[in-house]
Amino acid sequence: MSSEHTDESREAFPTDAPAVVTCGLPYANGDLHIGHLRTYVGGDVYSRALESLGQRTAFVCGSDMHGTPIAVQAIEEDIDPEAFALEWHEQYEETFPKFDVDFDNYGHTHDDANRELTYEIVERLEEEGYVYEKDIKVAWDPVDEQPLPDRYVEGTCPYCGAHARGDECDEGCGRHLEPGEIEDPVSTISGNPAEYRDRTHKFFRVSELADYLDGFLDRLEGTSNARNQPRQWLEDGLQDWCITRDLDWGFDYPGEEDLVLYVWVDAPIEYVASTKQYTDRVGADEYDWEEAWREDGDIVHVIGRDIIQHHTIFWPAMLHVAGFQEPRAVMASGFMTLDGKGFSTSRDRAVWAREYLDEGFHPDLLRYYLATNGGFQQDVDFSWEKFRDRVNNELVGTVGNFVYRSLLFAHRNFEGTPEAEVSEEVEARIGEAIDDFRAGVNDYSVREVGTATVELARFGNEYIQREEPWNLLGEDDEAAAQVIRDCVQIAKAVAVLFEPVAPGTSEELWGQLNEDGSVHDVTTDAALAAPPRDIGAPDELYEKIEDERVEELNEKLESRVAEAAAAADDGAGTETDDAEPDDGGDVTDLPPVSEDRIGFEEFQELDLRVGEIVDAVGIEGADELVKLTVDIGVEERQIVAGLKQLHDVESLPGTRVVIVANLEKAELFGVESNGMVLAAGEDADLLTTHGDAPLGTKVR
Ligand SMILES: [Zn+2]
Repeated sequence: MSSEHTDESREAFPTDAPAVVTCGLPYANGDLHIGHLRTYVGGDVYSRALESLGQRTAFVCGSDMHGTPIAVQAIEEDIDPEAFALEWHEQYEETFPKFDVDFDNYGHTHDDANRELTYEIVERLEEEGYVYEKDIKVAWDPVDEQPLPDRYVEGTCPYCGAHARGDECDEGCGRHLEPGEIEDPVSTISGNPAEYRDRTHKFFRVSELADYLDGFLDRLEGTSNARNQPRQWLEDGLQDWCITRDLDWGFDYPGEEDLVLYVWVDAPIEYVASTKQYTDRVGADEYDWEEAWREDGDIVHVIGRDIIQHHTIFWPAMLHVAGFQEPRAVMASGFMTLDGKGFSTSRDRAVWAREYLDEGFHPDLLRYYLATNGGFQQDVDFSWEKFRDRVNNELVGTVGNFVYRSLLFAHRNFEGTPEAEVSEEVEARIGEAIDDFRAGVNDYSVREVGTATVELARFGNEYIQREEPWNLLGEDDEAAAQVIRDCVQIAKAVAVLFEPVAPGTSEELWGQLNEDGSVHDVTTDAALAAPPRDIGAPDELYEKIEDERVEELNEKLESRVAEAAAAADDGAGTETDDAEPDDGGDVTDLPPVSEDRIGFEEFQELDLRVGEIVDAVGIEGADELVKLTVDIGVEERQIVAGLKQLHDVESLPGTRVVIVANLEKAELFGVESNGMVLAAGEDADLLTTHGDAPLGTKVR
């Protein structure tokens, strides 16, 4: 195959070609929380913004039904994997529209459209000579006579020594693990120790496509992380890719009885299949999937940054060999945290999508927060406090306030839009907002798309403050009419330009302006078209979030996390019942228990907290001392402790400990120690917790 290098950069959006915007497929195996929603909201904003520019766009996605995460969970719940995955698929299908994430087609990877396209593409890879067979070692359960692919097996990471799953060191170094790499393998299903057996598998010759991929990365647009990371992988040398698994669940490899395709082969093909389903529904005259995927489509993938490799190496390699259009852009989002820490599904430490809606919040508030709180590739933190601030300051204080006061003034004093022409200044400022909006699309920045409108509304507030139309009434009615005419035009521009980020409230505003049809169907040109004459009394678009509400929401979250931790604690208790009793050592030399009692209040003066060692370095010149950084939830503490000779310093990070948080500060070997780590005896046996008490929990 020859790779076509074209150095000319692509035409800016909007183009004449059909665009496809896709979102990374959600695994159909669990509830969605607001961290998951970041990429779906991002994709939805981007696709709506393209359409506002007049670009023909298909916004498609689907549920990822295959793979071992689903197979293993289905076994645990004793249910058929297809039924299991379909149930979640149906939930996602219902949930996305509630956040106005409005896919033109939402399919799933186990349907016929995806099966046909997957076979077509795999057969092309075979025909072009890019598939070969190789014997490899795979984990096997010798008792149950069962192969153990990916998540069927767990053991020790060969790179960092952490406990790891078969395909990924998710608790340690984060590396992708190839079949056969994991050490001390144990079946996650039966608990039996696994052995390695020789099996024949299929490999995709990705290594031969390095030149093509090099050129592809030169052409690739989107966020810079999606180019920089794969560059590094290319420089390190590409490995061929094992594209089959010993598994019952998935698409059979063509012509093979015992092998299914690796989930990452058929998952991205769903982007194509879902686009095809869209065309099947609306007709090729309205949107032609073949033109998009086989000719000249502008394909934009919106994903989380943990799957960059799949979208910038494996996927374009497959598309290229199979004769499909390569992606134009990959937008890879950063991670999301909750109050500065990771979401934890198992610890119920999350704001669930359903919960957010049940609290009665409008989806636009979260959409605005997710789309504009930091650049797309940056990590974003969510807290109810920050959420309140963004909503109150920007949506209520800036956008809502401007629109409401303008329309109310127009309604009360002019019975609608005043008879006047829009001033040159305001026309130019709206034009500038449209330019900013378009620049946001071409920079692949949903944040820029959103802030273009907020800045316009901010200008509107300044303008009305500066012109003081309330002082002009009765003095110079014509001048007052001019100012309010300008403000109504800005309000209309807000409705049009805010639609991608806030589709629900923009539609409401469109109605308040007495406009016909839907704001979803207009392009950015409408921002400068004259609004209707009659305007009724407006309603406030956004409601302020009170501080008490935030406290209430935080308390709910905290008590839920504590409940989950207590439940996990109970579980741990029953498990340890079977464990060997610990050898308590020689008890005869122990000192008697002190006769001096202290009061409960005295005990309470001690502020004991659960913490986790996040960093440990030996202190030079001190035989025993280690400088620890301990995360206690509310803050990170530097603590000096005498652990060096008793513990492997490198293995300390990740250890949960209990600290005295209100001990007087001290200085040891010139290093400040702010607190004390509790430990038992000469061996400095560290005190820890046995449940999942969140960091910072008080020990009582
Ligand atoms: Zn590791």
